[in-house]
Amino acid sequence: MSTHLFVSPALGQYGFPGGHPLSVDRQGAFWQAARSRGLDRNVVLAPSAPAPRAAIERFHTPEYVERVREASRVGAGYLDYGDTPAFPGCYEVAAHVVGAALEGARRVVAGEALRCFQPIGGLHHARRGSAAGFCVFNDIGVLIETLRAEHGVRRIAYVDIDVHHGDGVYYEFEHDPHLIVVDIHEDGRFLYPGTGASHETGAGAAQGTKLNLPLAPGADDAQFFRAWEHAERFLARFEPQFFILQCGADSLADDPLAHLRFTPAAHRHAVRRLRLLAEQHAQGRLMAFGGGGYNLDGLAMAWCAVLEVLQQ
Ligand SMILES: [Zn+2]
Repeated sequence: MSTHLFVSPALGQYGFPGGHPLSVDRQGAFWQAARSRGLDRNVVLAPSAPAPRAAIERFHTPEYVERVREASRVGAGYLDYGDTPAFPGCYEVAAHVVGAALEGARRVVAGEALRCFQPIGGLHHARRGSAAGFCVFNDIGVLIETLRAEHGVRRIAYVDIDVHHGDGVYYEFEHDPHLIVVDIHEDGRFLYPGTGASHETGAGAAQGTKLNLPLAPGADDAQFFRAWEHAERFLARFEPQFFILQCGADSLADDPLAHLRFTPAAHRHAVRRLRLLAEQHAQGRLMAFGGGGYNLDGLAMAWCAVLEVLQQ
């Protein structure tokens, strides 16, 4: 069994016009770098299709899904308060990101793939009823609901090393004791979305199932490795049946939107260690998503490191 990679012209279209930091150039920058390093030889390039509306509505409200459809037809305006513009066809493109995640889950659960990587994905800010922070549909949220509804997978680990707190996943599953969350990010006092303080550990019956590890601006690999030790001990306690990683590259030094100073060694370490945890507890089942990253050279380096470790 091998690593399956979701890279396609349709996925590459997830990006916003008019000089927006989340451009349509990101997948291409990664894929060009990956091919130049020979990282395309050991992977299965998996085809994907847009998720059906009913699947998207396992997580999102029908009202919100309808709003996106309408905005997609009109092709103008904003889906939130100003970060996430609508563009013609944005519904179809966002539905395709979700569809690839669901196809990855199907392959992993069926045993056709051991692991997957989807660079254009991990849209962790969208809420059930709204867009946020460049994220139209929350592919991770739909994936979690689908793993449960369709595949009988209940205890899932979601690990997020994007520089931003994954608030859309955290808050929509805050009361869910079977979603184990570990989120390492820049301290919300200094960066969007402002959440993810260390005292946020889940609510109600889920208290103690979430671990937020905010880092001060300027934190580098040494601080990441220390936080990771903590994260790993936490994850192992719950013996998750399935692992999801959002490995945003905006935590690298030189990202224009944030202030951490990781190198791709952080991403490499996270994937290597999560692979081992998945092998110990989850029959190796691991899906990785590219998340943010707004410096094209940086995201290409980080995601190549991820792919390299996944296919070893
Ligand atoms: Zn981010």
